[in-house]
Amino acid sequence: MNRMSVCSFIARDKKIMIIEDNCITLNQLRDFLDEYGYRTIPCKHPLEAMDLLNEITPDLIVLDIIMPDVDGYEFCKWVRSQTRLKMIPIVFLTAKTRLEDKLEGLGIGGDDYITKPFSMEELLARIEVILKRLESFHEISMRDELTHAFNRRYFNERLGEEVHRVKRTGRPFSAVLIDIDYFKRINDNYGHYVGDSVLIQFVKLLQSSLRKSDLVVRLGGEEFILLLSDTSSGKAYLLAERLRQTLDEVTFTYNENGVCAEIRMTISAGIACCPEHGEDAEALLALADKALYSAKSSGRNAVKIAIGK
Ligand SMILES: [Mg+2]
Repeated sequence: MNRMSVCSFIARDKKIMIIEDNCITLNQLRDFLDEYGYRTIPCKHPLEAMDLLNEITPDLIVLDIIMPDVDGYEFCKWVRSQTRLKMIPIVFLTAKTRLEDKLEGLGIGGDDYITKPFSMEELLARIEVILKRLESFHEISMRDELTHAFNRRYFNERLGEEVHRVKRTGRPFSAVLIDIDYFKRINDNYGHYVGDSVLIQFVKLLQSSLRKSDLVVRLGGEEFILLLSDTSSGKAYLLAERLRQTLDEVTFTYNENGVCAEIRMTISAGIACCPEHGEDAEALLALADKALYSAKSSGRNAVKIAIGK
């Protein structure tokens, strides 16, 4: 079998730390998981693993129990006590086959417990069940429930990463803060179902107007932010202007539950660009907010770029 044909779909960029004091088993595990496309971090000694965990956050840990200095139980308890590491799934892989050993392993926070001798395929299947579930949980936790745009929590994560990327590469990104003008009137005049439907349609329109790499985020209510990587303030302005003009021409319709409505609306937007307007995430958002405020006070249905650094 060649490598491509065995690669797991789930494996993409996933890091699995293997902690096992038996070199032969360690190498077998490493080779097997490597072949399925995982990025393995093999550790022969638990103390070496603890050291590495200061810098690396694996997606899952395969953990032996009988090891020198720190046994697997102690190691698992230590991981569960660390804020950054405590959610990492742990799969015990051990020669300790007694029921009370298994119960102890699961009791201190192991996600699975496999006894030696074991089948590589079974280990892989169990690892993938855990990683798939985590992935769908992550997908849910980063989306806004109503519109399926990304949510504020995910935005904050990505904003930090973008700022780092700018510092490393010097390539700019822009944030476009958008507010729907007089949105409250839609809810007041037609009811929340219509307002919600307009928000959903608005997000679809935003998503279809942007590149795949751009992020559409609902910050809350009728406030949205676009995170445009590799985009100068000038380019972001053109894009926001185009969106504003599109909305000037679009009619959102709602026809359900006996209610029929045709909605026209406009947007106001404020733009801040990193590094042009600064390299601090919070300060950038404050500047975008200021620009949005200026667009609003100029009569709405307008786009403004932040001023100053
Ligand atoms: Mg051992």
